[in-house]
Amino acid sequence: MGLLVAVTPASQVQASPLSGTVVSSESRWGYGHSLIVTESVVEQSDGSRITVHQVGGTHEGIGMRQSHSLPLLAIGDSLVAEAQARPSSTGRTFHLLREVHSLRRASLAEKNQDTQDFVRTETAAGYQVYWASGCALLSVASEGSEQIAGDTEFQVVDQVLEAWQDEAGGCSDFSLVNEGTTDTGVGFDGINVIKFREDLWCRPATKDDPQQCYEEAAAGITTLFFIKDGSERVGEILDADIELNGVQFAFAVNGQTSGTAQCDADLANTLTHEVGHFLGLDHTCWIGQGQRLGDEQGNQVPSCSLPTLSESITEATMYNFQSCGETKKATVEADDVAGMCAIYPSGEHPTTCEPADVDLGGCCSVAGNRSPGASGSPALFGLGLLGLMLAFRRQRAENNS
Ligand SMILES: [Zn+2]
Repeated sequence: MGLLVAVTPASQVQASPLSGTVVSSESRWGYGHSLIVTESVVEQSDGSRITVHQVGGTHEGIGMRQSHSLPLLAIGDSLVAEAQARPSSTGRTFHLLREVHSLRRASLAEKNQDTQDFVRTETAAGYQVYWASGCALLSVASEGSEQIAGDTEFQVVDQVLEAWQDEAGGCSDFSLVNEGTTDTGVGFDGINVIKFREDLWCRPATKDDPQQCYEEAAAGITTLFFIKDGSERVGEILDADIELNGVQFAFAVNGQTSGTAQCDADLANTLTHEVGHFLGLDHTCWIGQGQRLGDEQGNQVPSCSLPTLSESITEATMYNFQSCGETKKATVEADDVAGMCAIYPSGEHPTTCEPADVDLGGCCSVAGNRSPGASGSPALFGLGLLGLMLAFRRQRAENNS
């Protein structure tokens, strides 16, 4: 495990040990075409096979990925983990990963180069993700937050969007447009939602798929849908939703909250980080799980466990960890600005503002250069769902002293 500390409440259903190698892995659309689900078969040393159900994957040219979540399993992975059996309403039994103790991936090169720059989110084949328009539109779930007095949370959303735009205004014309409130939920629908979750830190169950709860150490998760490899529009973000964790954390503004969780998550702090993910930025260091990205120089992102990480890594808004009550991520730092301006440079990125074109019917024909795994469909389109979250490092003893 990396520096993420898993928190297991007493209410959690018991998980069982799981140890073995992934012998097959297939992805499909979940119910309502709103998510992609991957089912991976793990063969254990006694020959028994367990099917692990995960949100995310690649299907029909579309990729979905969630950061700050447990890594998506792939063929050849060897893992030692805890899994929990969960029945679906259709009578199947799924195993959900609760914790991964170790994961070995054959393809992952291990280097610890101490180089630093901002990091951009990529598709599985290494194409960087971006909004194609000169803007991105967001809405806020109409119920807002009950932990923050009045309508302050809506004002904080505006402040956060302005912080990114103002800081990067010298080198980027990209705009973040708040369209107001919505009753639309999260999912692939072309509507980008900021959602406060205060009852359950989970994606709700659908007819086909059981409820999937998120990493409890994560204060937020941003899920991106982007066009996958093999399309002319590869990397283009089509939909992005931000979910905020008001279950394990108490949403706070200026230290004020009516939430009862012990650890305050300053709303601007968390949301500024998540908006960075929404823009296509990734973390400044690698926690030892999942895809290891590179910086703009092509260097691998340094490991978060290196003792010599520079301040440009640890003080950036896109640093992976934050502590209870922290507010420093609410200010966008130079390295974050450099990232935004690399994605959306003035003079090179469009200045017109349009909603993302999520009508994939015919949008993305590809002449050749077919992506691996795509069957011979004449029109190949891809969409990636990328979820990213802000993890809190639990260090109450230090922070509350
Ligand atoms: Zn994050």
